[in-house]
Amino acid sequence: MAGRDYDAIIVGASFAGLAVARRLTGRVLLLDRNEVGAVQTSACGTPLWVPQALGVADSVLQVHDKLTVRAPTRTVTYDLSAVPFCTFDYKRFCEGLLDQTQARFLRASVTGVEDGAVLTSDGRFTAPVIVDCSGWRGALVNSGSAATPARGDFSFGLETRTALEDEGLSFWLDGSLIPRGLGWIFPVGKGSLIGLGSYVGLSKLKPALERFLRDRGTVATTYHGTYFPNRLFRPTVGRLFAVGDAAGQCLPLTAEGIRPALYFGVECGRIIQQIFDGRIALSEGLDQYRALVDHYRRAYRILRLAQWAAEHVPTRWFVALTGLAARHPVLPRWWPRYGWFGRFDPDPSPVA
Ligand SMILES: Cc1cc2nc3c(=O)[nH]c(=O)nc-3n(C[C@H](O)[C@H](O)[C@H](O)COP(=O)(O)OP(=O)(O)OC[C@H]3O[C@@H](n4cnc5c(N)ncnc54)[C@H](O)[C@@H]3O)c2cc1C
Repeated sequence: MAGRDYDAIIVGASFAGLAVARRLTGRVLLLDRNEVGAVQTSACGTPLWVPQALGVADSVLQVHDKLTVRAPTRTVTYDLSAVPFCTFDYKRFCEGLLDQTQARFLRASVTGVEDGAVLTSDGRFTAPVIVDCSGWRGALVNSGSAATPARGDFSFGLETRTALEDEGLSFWLDGSLIPRGLGWIFPVGKGSLIGLGSYVGLSKLKPALERFLRDRGTVATTYHGTYFPNRLFRPTVGRLFAVGDAAGQCLPLTAEGIRPALYFGVECGRIIQQIFDGRIALSEGLDQYRALVDHYRRAYRILRLAQWAAEHVPTRWFVALTGLAARHPVLPRWWPRYGWFGRFDPDPSPVA
């Protein structure tokens, strides 16, 4: 039987967990209750540079250089060509990252942490460094009890794969379809993922989604949906690091959570490797990671304010604002800045 003592334990083998593991040499245990890449929860849209920088460009399904915002009163088209977006295959993306790690992957459910040991369905494991990448529930940072999706801190998204083709990347703002939320169509090469998101965490979205699909002349296949945070939580709790949705790093307004999970994961991994190398103590590593996340608090606050506006300002006014943001010379001032947020190293070399 493999050992039970490690240099680091990472809980969650999705975007955040794989990004942390990818940077680490040493004895690392990567735990997840599902096989890597088996359970997709998102539409998997992200800037094209992200899979390219991580060496998993073969997971890209479709490149998008336009985004259309549709509302009952008008349609606004954004030119994304300065930083194109893409949709990618979740399984291929995650498996590609797993191939780049030296960690031992174990399929096991984690129930909490006790006396410095991680408790799992496969017994106890110990390590000086523990990272919670378990998504919105924060299996460790919330002491094993599920995070409460309190109104305000969590949004909810539900989507389905459809056969709909030939519609570009689009967001739909329509209070009669979903109040205080948005709809989306993300083409994925063959067919599209179509979904609805509620900024206020309403989870009974199926009837509205079915109506949305009917209006588009298509039908649902399988559904997936879950909560995602729209507020930064604590990046460290005691001696635990938290990355991705477990730390509330999903961006408010746009609900982009993949890129922040990967970015903070890469950076957290870099800090942990310094601890492994004896260059800094664990306490310094925790301080460094907290300082890094704090650096972005203002940007998160601005996006949260924009999300508040999307929820409360009448749709036609909000869409008029998005129309202004899509125009030259306004667009080139903010889009590349947003699109390049979280840029990884130009040559992020994975562990040998
Ligand atoms: C419908 C929908 C569409 C979305 N679309 C996009 C999009 O297009 N682009 C984008 O950037 N973001 C999108 N998001 C947000 C994005 O999915 C999340 O922000 C992102 O997945 C966070 O990554 P993560 O690694 O932190 O957590 P997750 O991807 O949630 O991964 C957590 C991992 O931990 C494992 N786990 C959880 N609990 C335990 C436990 N107790 N024991 C063991 N393992 C456990 C899970 O199995 C999972 O593998 C979407 C969200 C939803 C709901």
